[in-house]
Amino acid sequence: MFKVNTNFQKLPGSYLFSTIAKKVAAYSEANPNADIIRLGIGDVTQPIAPAMIKALHDSVDEMGSASTFHGYAPDLGYPFLRETIAKNDYQARGCDISADEIFVSDGAKSDSADIQELFAADVKIAVCDPVYPVYVDSNVMAGRLGTYDEKLGKWSDLIYMPTTAENKFVPEFPKEVPDVIYLCLPNNPTGTTLTKSQLQLWVDYANKNGSLIIFDAAYEAYISEADVPHSIYECAGAKTCAIEIHSFSKNAGFTGVRLGYTVVPKDLVFDGASLNAMWARRHGTKFNGAPYIIQRAGEAVYSAEGQAQIKEQVGYYMNNAKTIYTGLKDAGFEVYGGVNAPYIWLKTPDNMTSWDFFDYLLEKVQIVGTPGAGFGPSGEGYFRLTAFGSAENTVRAIERIKSL
Ligand SMILES: *Cc1c(COP(=O)(O)O)cnc(C)c1O
Repeated sequence: MFKVNTNFQKLPGSYLFSTIAKKVAAYSEANPNADIIRLGIGDVTQPIAPAMIKALHDSVDEMGSASTFHGYAPDLGYPFLRETIAKNDYQARGCDISADEIFVSDGAKSDSADIQELFAADVKIAVCDPVYPVYVDSNVMAGRLGTYDEKLGKWSDLIYMPTTAENKFVPEFPKEVPDVIYLCLPNNPTGTTLTKSQLQLWVDYANKNGSLIIFDAAYEAYISEADVPHSIYECAGAKTCAIEIHSFSKNAGFTGVRLGYTVVPKDLVFDGASLNAMWARRHGTKFNGAPYIIQRAGEAVYSAEGQAQIKEQVGYYMNNAKTIYTGLKDAGFEVYGGVNAPYIWLKTPDNMTSWDFFDYLLEKVQIVGTPGAGFGPSGEGYFRLTAFGSAENTVRAIERIKSL
């Protein structure tokens, strides 16, 4: 008789973004004329820039001609894209990463969820708290992390590294040494990040203890400060302890186009096994390659025009971030992030819970944000606003919040 994977039943019932969607839908139904401004979900709003649209059109045309048609893409990515990535994102920054260490995929969400296929069943995992929920839930589905305590909002077998205003959002080495450490920098949801010397301490710690770091660099393009590393491989020794995950979603607006890549250095060898060879084998078995058309669009991101255009889009969102950050500060809020990331993380006023503040903003000023508690127990008392809205709506939203 068929039996289901009961690990799924261990996942807590209310998924953050579906709970938000339900609340917003109920409010809209009760208030059909409400002018709701959505600064909740982390999705871009600007259209794909012209250099990438041209690459998409050109490659679509190639697909329609017998002499330039492309069938299955190579599992690991087309060499033209792997080489472009290695050259521009790594070698140009002094990181010794080669094309055969780059694995092209359909995005960072699936890679960050699937990378756990490389882990043994009983590895001890650490995450920052608050956390991008994918890292946690993907390990639960695979049978790790023990049981969920609804009251504490915690998994019994997961190491939580709180990042709050108290430690300036810098995770501290946990009491128990983890086998796997997930780091997302710049961070979603807090919008904060680490300097190169702070990240170097984590690389040294991982190398000393034989731990693996999973480094999610989805927001790399938003880094504005000089001492913040764009890649973990800028830190000495990272090639023997870190896997890095990238996305084209937030830098180039590919959320609906789908493209990402993961770097698995050949120096990553544990128990005599090469993680690079394992991930190549895994891709070969489970993935038939990102579409040719999309990989050509990804290549265009690195062209001179592409770079100029995405820089402008990132600038647009970061301008929104500044509007939110300074507007909230002027209104007396305690605010974080927004300097190297498109997220603003604010302390809820008057010790409101993050869900109470969600309801308050929705009901009083028709603004949708994301309650911090949805990202982990240390997110309680905080709230996330995104800079991915339109400039106009962002300004209007802040005016409304200031009027409270
Ligand atoms: C948006 C986001 C991603 C997802 O990227 P896709 O490439 O669109 O799948 C991955 N990690 C973090 C932390 C994100 O916020």
